Amino acid sequence: MRARFTIFTAVTFAGLAAALIGAPADTSQDMARARRIHAEAVGVDSHIDTIQRALNGGEDISKRTAGGHVDLPRLRESGMRAPFFALYVPTYYKGSEAVRRTLQLRDAMQRVLDAHSDQIELALTAADVERIIKAGKVSAVLTIESGHAIADDLAALRMYHRLGVRSMTLTHFRNTNWADSSTDQPQHNGLSEFGREVVREMNRIGMIVDISHVSDKTFYDTLAVTTRPVIASHSSCRALVDAPRNMTDDMIRALAKQGGVIGINFGASFLSRKDVEASRRGFATRAAVEPNLTGKALDEFAAKDYTDTYGVMKPNQATIEDAVAHIDHVVKLVGADHVGIGSDWDGISTVPAGLEDVSKMPALTAMLLQRGYSERDLKKILGGNFLRVMRQVIGR
Ligand SMILES: [Zn+2]
Repeated sequence: MRARFTIFTAVTFAGLAAALIGAPADTSQDMARARRIHAEAVGVDSHIDTIQRALNGGEDISKRTAGGHVDLPRLRESGMRAPFFALYVPTYYKGSEAVRRTLQLRDAMQRVLDAHSDQIELALTAADVERIIKAGKVSAVLTIESGHAIADDLAALRMYHRLGVRSMTLTHFRNTNWADSSTDQPQHNGLSEFGREVVREMNRIGMIVDISHVSDKTFYDTLAVTTRPVIASHSSCRALVDAPRNMTDDMIRALAKQGGVIGINFGASFLSRKDVEASRRGFATRAAVEPNLTGKALDEFAAKDYTDTYGVMKPNQATIEDAVAHIDHVVKLVGADHVGIGSDWDGISTVPAGLEDVSKMPALTAMLLQRGYSERDLKKILGGNFLRVMRQVIGR
């Protein structure tokens, strides 16, 4: 009797406390709604590094993998069925070595596409994305990170487009020979004349210009040249976390004015003030890696470098609420048409609590529902916005 009374009292107090702090009455209902929205949304994530796990670690991403943030089963279940697979070339690949590395990554992607054509298909247009996900498969959009992969030659850029690449970041941690990075010393005062040519050629052939990683000056130079919307595929908000990789409010406004989209990066150091200092040290250390190798020896170095950096997640203080705050910040600033998901899964070494891998995505959507987001806006954030940019840049 006494025990029953205690339980009853505890339940009553919990209910009263929830009512007083305005907690949602039924979170399981929001989760069910979120899962339905994910089943219906396109599910674009504008930056994942998962193909590196296939190339560097020989992992079979067609099966559920014990580690990592993404594999094909988890993409399908979470409803994030249209990721941009990044062909990420470390900046220590120089000149034609960077071209060779890009081809290796493109080949690794092709091997996944060929071996699992029942599960995944290459998308060249927004219409392809819609057709492929309707068929119940994962739709792979290819993107290059970063511009040094063209080895200062527009012919390489054009051939990457022929190989199905539909977007490219202009820089990574280091400056390219024609564009300044946000995590390097200014060298070109933004974009050089050849850098402007790269942007114009990307516009002409229908490749999305991705300004994640570039310096603020490179960003504004790019906007002055481009005739098409640009994206920040995996950046977050500098007003919330003062990291050079994040965008200022002014940059987000300028991006939105041109019809662009920012994909919110889930790396803890992009999301949480408490983690930003560790990230500054991280950027500096990562940018300083210069093995001075070529060929097989360089590839072996890169494989080990990737597994050492991203194989085990490091402790951090970010939470899923931080990711919600960054999305909400962009929406309050420029509306729901200019924000998306750019998780950086499998390319980050710190993940927020509650958002440890792609399978947790519906929880993020449930939290946005609790904040009053409409299903229409959530579907834009979960892919509609990036699909719009694909249509505007690629043309179909
Ligand atoms: Zn990146």
